[in-house]
Amino acid sequence: MLIDESRLHIAIQKSGRLADHSRGLLRDAGLRIQNGRNDLTARIENFPADLMFVRDDDIPTFVSDGVCEFGIVGENVLQESALDEREARFEIVARLGFGRCSLRIAAPEEAVYSGPDSLAGARIATSYPRLLRHFLDTHGIQADIVKMRGAVELAPRLGIAGFICDLVSTGATLEANRLRAVETVLDSEAVLVRTTRPGPEDKAELGTRLLSRIDGVLATRDSKYIMLNATGESLKQITAILPGAEAPTIVPLHGRPGHFAVHAVCQESVFWETLQRLKEAGASAILVVPIEKMML
Ligand code: ATP
Ligand code: ZN
Repeated sequence: MLIDESRLHIAIQKSGRLADHSRGLLRDAGLRIQNGRNDLTARIENFPADLMFVRDDDIPTFVSDGVCEFGIVGENVLQESALDEREARFEIVARLGFGRCSLRIAAPEEAVYSGPDSLAGARIATSYPRLLRHFLDTHGIQADIVKMRGAVELAPRLGIAGFICDLVSTGATLEANRLRAVETVLDSEAVLVRTTRPGPEDKAELGTRLLSRIDGVLATRDSKYIMLNATGESLKQITAILPGAEAPTIVPLHGRPGHFAVHAVCQESVFWETLQRLKEAGASAILVVPIEKMML
């Protein structure tokens, strides 16, 4: 049998925009991916889990059906699938910060556009018919949706549709096709989804362990450990400047009365400007170091 029931299964994109980042995230979570078993699956050497390499469009189904307990997929693909009449049995458990893009409606550069009403009665080409329909319904607009699997940006030039609704990141593709974005249907990034189908207790426990590791990776990605020295009078101001640090540790410096060391985990990026402000507030010997692992 292909599926080993005692292990977790994680669906990730086989190849494409999310593939490398998805593997990278799992690797950062300490999972060693064994190469070369076959094209469809890979075993994790040091955790009871197997990866399944599939097309991103199939990931919501795999997770919803419980074939895979977890999946990494763009929110655009996930929400399109969640709008299906069938019950979607998955939940987003983490937003992953990569694969950022927006599903946007675009019009030919020269077209007159004055808001969603301009879409009334139009033909709009898209690979995301349900998300688009949802957007149009929300705005009370009647329009024809032309479903295309790819090359949506060519539709206006081919005379298939007046507008398109497609994924945009830099906008270069739109520009190259003389189109301009006029509405945002969804802002998307890659997400970790978990099945909501009930499963055996031990698998649920494995899932929680995996999730806690991934949460740890996400928390450390932007976090820094910051250390500095300060006088007693400046402590209040300095701790107020520290970005995203909830409870800094403050200890007296030996042999220097009135002087303290401040240590804190900053959950947000620490910029040079922040260091400058800390220095102006009276901090000295400021050290910012990366955090390798964190378990919250
Ligand atoms: P598959 O072969 O797995 O079906 P695909 O061609 O549908 O792949 P990709 O182009 O690899 O998909 O994109 C995967 C996901 O990457 C998208 O669903 C989206 O969430 C995200 N993404 C980020 N930026 C963009 C972009 N500029 N264009 C398209 N997708 C993007
Ligand atoms: Zn796809």
